[in-house]
Amino acid sequence: MSFLNLEGKVAIVTGGGAGIGRAIALGFAREGARVAVVDWKAEDGQAVVAEIEKLDENKPLDDLTATFIHADVSKDADASRIAAEAIAAFGRIDILCNNAGIQTYGTVESTAEEIWDKTLGVNLKSIYLVSKYVIPHMKQAGGGSIVNTASVQSVAALANSAAYVASKGGVTSLTQEMALDFGRYNIRVNAVLPGSIRTPMLEYSASQTPDPQKAMEEWNKLYALGRIGEAVEVANLILFLASPAASFITGAPYLVDGGLVARLF
Ligand code: NAD
Repeated sequence: MSFLNLEGKVAIVTGGGAGIGRAIALGFAREGARVAVVDWKAEDGQAVVAEIEKLDENKPLDDLTATFIHADVSKDADASRIAAEAIAAFGRIDILCNNAGIQTYGTVESTAEEIWDKTLGVNLKSIYLVSKYVIPHMKQAGGGSIVNTASVQSVAALANSAAYVASKGGVTSLTQEMALDFGRYNIRVNAVLPGSIRTPMLEYSASQTPDPQKAMEEWNKLYALGRIGEAVEVANLILFLASPAASFITGAPYLVDGGLVARLF
């Protein structure tokens, strides 16, 4: 058994249908955890559940290791259903990865109110909403672990990203606050701060530049390690923070950025 000791735990992964969320969901499944994959894109989420089921084709059919929950994490009714459906499928919730997010661009001058609200809704309000309905089940189980996906843009800004930067700054602040409120219930709350990670979101960011291929090449050069990151490299940190191996870690932001923020010039 791995030192992470995740065997039999139940994990909810939001935005589990693609990118970092997909890597987290597959990582938990490989470590023997049961996973509720949440996404607003049904086809993508279902495909990840199918991938997980293929990992162990010898298991009995009634031994459910993954389930898909179709939900928009920025909506209260969906958030409450996520907790209810995970409990219906697995009977308990040990881990919540608040990972779903969207990238938007604009200054405070050019960002439409609707884009501001949507960005803050998906990237920040969703953490309040999904946690609100999951935490009572963690209390009941005697504890739990929440890992929120923030960004290097929680500690340093990119221009023309007002709503995104504001949302990700909020994620690390909310992480600290939640750790204080729920530590007494043995619920730990941490945040990971990825640099550029090769996912559909990063491809979208590249597509917003005049020369997407050149943008990717230039981004590699910003990193001490000379390259952008892979989704599994973020998932590995999230699995550790979610696991009992991180039992004295709470309220903290963790960079996983290949040395990006270490550089002054
Ligand atoms: P992605 O766009 O590749 O995947 C995100 C997934 O979340 C998609 O499957 C999408 O359908 C789902 N999703 C989005 N909004 C949703 C909603 N309201 N309800 C349910 N599902 C929703 O993104 P990614 O790159 O894997 O990013 C994951 C997280 O990591 C995000 O919070 C993002 O801000 C953060 N992040 C990414 C990078 C990067 O370079 N990729 C860097 C720093 C932080």
